[in-house]
Amino acid sequence: MLENLTQRMSRVVKTIRGEARLTEANTQEMLREVRMALLEADVALPVVRDFIARVKEKALGQDVVGSLNPGQALVGVVHKELTALMGGDLGAEAGELSLATQPPAVILMAGLQGAGKTTTTGKLAKWLVEGGHVQQGRKSGKKKVLVVSADVYRPAAIEQLKTVAAQAHVDFLPSDPSQKPEAIATAALDHAKRHHYEVLIVDTAGRLGIDEAMMREIRALHDLLRPIETLFVVDAMQGQDAVNTAKAFADALPLTGVVLTKLDGDARGGAALSVRHVTGKPLKFVGMSEKLDGLEPFHPERMAQRVLGMGDIVSLVEQAQKNIDIAEAQKLATKIKSGNRFDLNDFREQLQQVKKMGDMGSMLEKLPAQFAQAASQLQGGQAEKQLRRTEGILNSMTPAERAKPELLKASRKRRIAAGAGVPVQEVNRMLSQFEQMQGMMKQMKKGGMAKMMRAMGG
Ligand code: GDP
Repeated sequence: MLENLTQRMSRVVKTIRGEARLTEANTQEMLREVRMALLEADVALPVVRDFIARVKEKALGQDVVGSLNPGQALVGVVHKELTALMGGDLGAEAGELSLATQPPAVILMAGLQGAGKTTTTGKLAKWLVEGGHVQQGRKSGKKKVLVVSADVYRPAAIEQLKTVAAQAHVDFLPSDPSQKPEAIATAALDHAKRHHYEVLIVDTAGRLGIDEAMMREIRALHDLLRPIETLFVVDAMQGQDAVNTAKAFADALPLTGVVLTKLDGDARGGAALSVRHVTGKPLKFVGMSEKLDGLEPFHPERMAQRVLGMGDIVSLVEQAQKNIDIAEAQKLATKIKSGNRFDLNDFREQLQQVKKMGDMGSMLEKLPAQFAQAASQLQGGQAEKQLRRTEGILNSMTPAERAKPELLKASRKRRIAAGAGVPVQEVNRMLSQFEQMQGMMKQMKKGGMAKMMRAMGG
């Protein structure tokens, strides 16, 4: 996601930070670099112009020029303006849904065909059912959610939502292509009220392009449903087209926010940066994979940090916390601290924890740019594949062998390799990696965390 932009911006950031003195000339030069990076990322020209003008005004002001560390201060300005550009000025409103209304809170999903509307309906429902939703800085708890499809034009659309809802363990209200969309909406609203649903998400028909009939229909649905959130779903890979489509919708329909899908496949990132400025609507969520847990609330400040190559540790920790078994992790940590030997059984346990944390590509991307190379090598499911192979090797060992790796002589290694379907060399490689790790654990136990960080260059 946004690899190209992040790479360029983190280079600029590094240069700026290194400048002992900021002159008009070198500030101009750096702003030119930022401008190029944004244009290359396919950010709309007026957005770039406006952004650069703001940064320039602040960069030449006393806060930067007169500061002790002008380079650092300039990076601060870029970060702040980038955050504002993506909706940071909205404060808590960005990345939050407002559901505080007489139940059911209705969410109307709009967008063109193929944008990812149905998938996002499922993702959003799952997220709400699982209690991921935050209101005014606090988790608002699990919601009772109903989804319905008012797409009567594509016969498979209703079935698709049904499948997605089943995967997400969310209640689905059947509808029929012979019904009118308004009739479906009325029935859904009635059903949601009678069965005390807190949230009703209505998926609507998408067309290939914007047409008047489509706009009329969704406006009618809007009038009828009076949704508290009307979200426009758009494919990030469409770049500036995505933003223009969102603008057309925002002009015709009172949107409350935008969801940008397929950001995982978007190396440029222009849409994420322009959408707020062009449409005036906040970006509320981004789609990071086609899986149902691949939806992330959008945090302008964190995203700005990511774009500048500083990583997004807060989201990383949140993602890990959500999936990891804290009790298991603590057991392991206690074991290491108490000086008990870290064996292959623990290693296997640890791998299982890592696997639970979810999509590794999306985790690694949140690390600061220094680690980006490692991350890029692990893209495309490489990390998961390697993990599975290592697990296969560990599973082919007996518990006794895992507890005492020194038992593993040549004949046992051959048996294990055959069991896991890998060459013996791979078993050896895994064992030597494990020994290295064991060494690190020993260091940690000795309270040598700081020493270890230094050794790793951290
Ligand atoms: P709709 O026509 O707007 O309802 O679009 P769908 O929900 O059917 O999605 C179209 C395609 O995009 C499907 O193949 C989805 O799996 C895929 N998709 C949706 N969101 C994402 C995303 O965030 N990332 C990726 N990689 N694929 C997505």
